[in-house]
Amino acid sequence: MEFATFADRAAEIEAEPADLEIVALVTDLLEDAGDDLGIVSRFVQGRVFPAWDSTTLDIGPSACYEAIARAAGTNVSADDVEDRLAEVGEIGEVAAGYDFGGQTGLGAFAGGGESGGGDGDDLTVREASETLEELAAASGSGSQDRKVDLLFGLFNRCSSEEARYLARLVLSEMRIGVGEGTVRDAVAEAFDVPAERVERALQVSNDYGRVARVARDEGLEGLDAMDLEVGRPVQAMLAQAGTVTEALEEWDEAAVEWKYDGARIQLHHDPEGIDVEGADAERGGGGARATTETTRVFSRNMEDVTNALPEVVEFAEATLEEPAILDGEVVAIDEDGDPLPFQEVLRRFRRKHDVAKAREDVTVRPVFFDCLHVDGEDLLEAPLAERHDRLVAVLSGNDPAGTDESAVEALSLLWVTDDADEIESIDADALEAGHEGIMLKNPESAYSPGRRGKNWRKRKPDVETLDCVVTGAEWGEGRRATFLGTFELSVRDGDDLETIGRVATGITDEKLAELTDLLEPHVAAEEGQRVDLEPAVVFEVGYEEIQRSPTYSSGYALRFPRFLGVRHDKGTEDADSLERVESLRSR
Ligand code: AMP
Repeated sequence: MEFATFADRAAEIEAEPADLEIVALVTDLLEDAGDDLGIVSRFVQGRVFPAWDSTTLDIGPSACYEAIARAAGTNVSADDVEDRLAEVGEIGEVAAGYDFGGQTGLGAFAGGGESGGGDGDDLTVREASETLEELAAASGSGSQDRKVDLLFGLFNRCSSEEARYLARLVLSEMRIGVGEGTVRDAVAEAFDVPAERVERALQVSNDYGRVARVARDEGLEGLDAMDLEVGRPVQAMLAQAGTVTEALEEWDEAAVEWKYDGARIQLHHDPEGIDVEGADAERGGGGARATTETTRVFSRNMEDVTNALPEVVEFAEATLEEPAILDGEVVAIDEDGDPLPFQEVLRRFRRKHDVAKAREDVTVRPVFFDCLHVDGEDLLEAPLAERHDRLVAVLSGNDPAGTDESAVEALSLLWVTDDADEIESIDADALEAGHEGIMLKNPESAYSPGRRGKNWRKRKPDVETLDCVVTGAEWGEGRRATFLGTFELSVRDGDDLETIGRVATGITDEKLAELTDLLEPHVAAEEGQRVDLEPAVVFEVGYEEIQRSPTYSSGYALRFPRFLGVRHDKGTEDADSLERVESLRSR
């Protein structure tokens, strides 16, 4: 497919407001893509590489402006491009404003160079894809110049419309309203297969290009035969915030695990060596990228972080006897093996240089809580409780007696219970052991890659409210001039009252009128808008955090205080004390 055709179609899609019509346009585009189906199904989403592939172009915006400027002619500089961007606000529009072509010089050969805008030397999506791959592969000294040259060569062959979408593609700003769901529905439509089966194939492969081709060439049977592959990352299942009460209401029982404060990892291991087949047959650059390594580790965003975490690789090599994909967390630990805060893991995670030195400073270890694949068998559909059993078996691979301490420690424990008290005590143990708290999971649930569903819940800490005495207020302004607002809150300290914050948000006009009636009789002094109130009324107040603060006489301040109600049942002597504030804060 010519890049110009792709650009025309992208423009049509961009101009279309209705989602269903967008799906129809993408469907047509995929049907017409021929041999370039894989590339087109990525480009239309603004992706150059498959989602599982952590390759990046590694070219910054300024290098892109430089390439545009060079292709636009001798009188345009990268600064001009940037100035126009500041005015116009969008790189596609800026690129489309220039007249490309006819520039010669280094790099122009990358795409022909003599003729812009189309006559006889039309850029194809495949050429664009191959050049961008070459650009991504350029590394080492002089690679930035090489990248700019290659990109210049591409822009030099573009018409204005082509340049619009090339610039957006390169800077990952496609924004034509095509998301993953659109491509899923369009593949289903174009090749007459059910959308949920396309979705499943996407979940296991993370490769839109490949799924589109398989759907077209092999139909439903081919799609259903697509499986997880050791070495190719899967999107991580995510959690929502939730409470124990909700979990126990919705499920018969809850699976309770400790929540480790580290960084998410997905471990892929094959003792025989990982061999990811056909990265994408349509990608130039030779397609298959086989490795002989046994272990790959990916981040939550499917980035390859293997080299940064040698402990995880060593662990896998020492412990696992079967090919497996495990989901877990890498945590930093001190000399006693106790967990360190998340920030310490960050000193190791994604590190590219001086890994050995960093390893001396911070030690990490993996903890696994899920198992997605063992020895040729995918477990995404299996219930959590079963996946956990498989995890236990895999981790005790070469140590059935459980004497290998690192294997035992690498298993996240799981309790299945419907007893709220037991859950509380697991939570207390988790905190005691230095972890973040607990996760609540539905023991019957499948593994849903990429989903932030209700089947995994991270427990929200219960917000403890404070009952504060109202010791001051301010008359409002404008429409609210007759209402008292911005209430000053205090807590007891022996016989005294000390201020701890002001609450102004979360109160309706109606409520303000009511509060004004309640408080006005207690006004002790007035100065300007400000009034002092004699202690009489107690507010219940929610907040996100208690902080140390010199602003208030208690020495503390409530962060994001919210008015929850008047404690009519409480006298000021029953309000909360500074002591309680201090104890809440130290929890
Ligand atoms: P959050 O990052 O706050 O959304 O919490 C979810 C994250 O907690 C996951 O992505 C994991 O990285 C991490 N986590 C720690 N322990 C567990 C566990 N037992 N199960 C699932 N996720 C966990």
